[in-house]
Amino acid sequence: MQYYSTARKRGNATAIVIIVFTVLLLWGLWYFYSERQTHKKHMAENELRLINDLQRDNLQLWRDRHLIDASYITEDTLLNSTITYWLHSKSSIGTKNYLQGHINRILRILREQRGYNAAYLVDPEGNIILDDLGKTNVKLPEKELAVMHKAFETAGPIAIEPRLDDFFGFPFFGVITPIHDEHHNPIASIWLVTDVRKTLYTLLEKWPGNSNTAESNLIMQDGDDILLLSPLRHNASTNKDEGSQVFLKASNGMHGLFDAVDYRNQDVIAISSLINQSPWVLVSKIDTEEVLKNSPQELLALAAPVVLYLLIASAGLVYVQRQGWKREKKLTLELERLVRVDTLTNIANRLSLDENLKKDWDHAYRYNRPLSLLMIDIDFFKKFNDNYGHLEGDECLKHVAKMLSGSVGRSSDLVARYGGEEFAILLPDTDAKNALILGQRVCTFISATQYHHVYSDNQSRLTVSIGLATMYPNAEEKTVNVNDLIQRADHALYQAKQSDRNQIKEFSCF
Ligand code: GH3
Ligand code: MG
Ligand code: MG
Repeated sequence: MQYYSTARKRGNATAIVIIVFTVLLLWGLWYFYSERQTHKKHMAENELRLINDLQRDNLQLWRDRHLIDASYITEDTLLNSTITYWLHSKSSIGTKNYLQGHINRILRILREQRGYNAAYLVDPEGNIILDDLGKTNVKLPEKELAVMHKAFETAGPIAIEPRLDDFFGFPFFGVITPIHDEHHNPIASIWLVTDVRKTLYTLLEKWPGNSNTAESNLIMQDGDDILLLSPLRHNASTNKDEGSQVFLKASNGMHGLFDAVDYRNQDVIAISSLINQSPWVLVSKIDTEEVLKNSPQELLALAAPVVLYLLIASAGLVYVQRQGWKREKKLTLELERLVRVDTLTNIANRLSLDENLKKDWDHAYRYNRPLSLLMIDIDFFKKFNDNYGHLEGDECLKHVAKMLSGSVGRSSDLVARYGGEEFAILLPDTDAKNALILGQRVCTFISATQYHHVYSDNQSRLTVSIGLATMYPNAEEKTVNVNDLIQRADHALYQAKQSDRNQIKEFSCF
């Protein structure tokens, strides 16, 4: 019982340890995983911010450069005078041609060296009167015309944001530069045009990192509309209007980092920044899924401790279980042994004798062998007890058991306590002659030991009487069984008692 409660306690303790470790491991993994995801997000945000800063600076430089070019033209009094003189003076054709050639050269320098796709001289009515190759007779597009009038009013260059118009076959960005005479009256303008595909877009096309989903877009608010000034890197396949939450947020003044849904209905981490002195907003974004995605190596790194833990835990469980089984088996064997042992004398008890009797009887029957049984009874043991006391009597019983055990030779022989002060020796495969010799030896041996028993009627020493029965089970009738062997040995013992004790009697029917 004690063992079972200890085993149960040990089992419970193991279960608690495993549960605690599992909870700790799961918590640790969850903590590690969420920390890792947060770290990844921070890294991606830092990268996004860096790239956005870089691109914003480039865009700022790009835009400023065009406006600075235009400012130089506006402030170039020599060029302004030349244009005024060419337009309004009544000088000779030769002088006029010379002046036109000079203006043409300036326009060509702007185109070839400053990287414009076109540079036009425009009169106040909106007629393009000169490009770097010669005169033209084309009308300025309406939007540019309106801007020109505004530029005349402000007396400074005005940018026209990237757009598409039939005038050119490409999206273009322009600057209208007013030209004044010496009285500061506007007399013409220079329209500088650049193909944004080759200049502006290239600043945004390539993503410096190795992301597949990151991109930067240039947008601006135009009334209620949000205009996209640069092409989308990824195809806008679904819900373009609803999905452009990222642009909406950015154009509504959401600057810095924010989470949103983009035009592909994807969750993104975004950052937006303003380009100074412009309506431009630069939006950089990356798919949240890509940022938080775990590579197979990362998943393996996460799974490794779990697998390791499972291996260790199962090995531990198997070990504990095996130990339990071993202990249980040992205990069972010990219990089985104890159940068959006489607690006082430590020799086989009645149960063991009965089992062996049956087994040896069957064996003798099958192989047609003899089976002998000696029934041994201490002489005058009542007197021993009465005079020396029960404790001394117990010691005497132990002594006899020891003597009997020492007197048998074969491992198959069994010495047992039959009950009270009676013992039995079961001798398989032993005929009457040899059993008799053994019995006589036992009698002599115990008597010769001279164990004290002054109250014995028999020479004042401890003696025993023995009854012997030998049978060949196979030769007996079917009705005869092992009980007959016991009864015969008992009968012989009775005869030994009748014949002055301290002797062996063999069973005989007569
Ligand atoms: P006999 O020579 O005819 O066998 O006489 P006896 O006195 O030995 O026989 P009896 O059957 O009258 O007495 C047996 C005694 O054995 C009685 C009992 O007190 C004693 N006895 C039986 N079992 C034990 C035991 O476990 N311990 C002790 N101390 N005495 C026991
Ligand atoms: Mg007796
Ligand atoms: Mg007796």
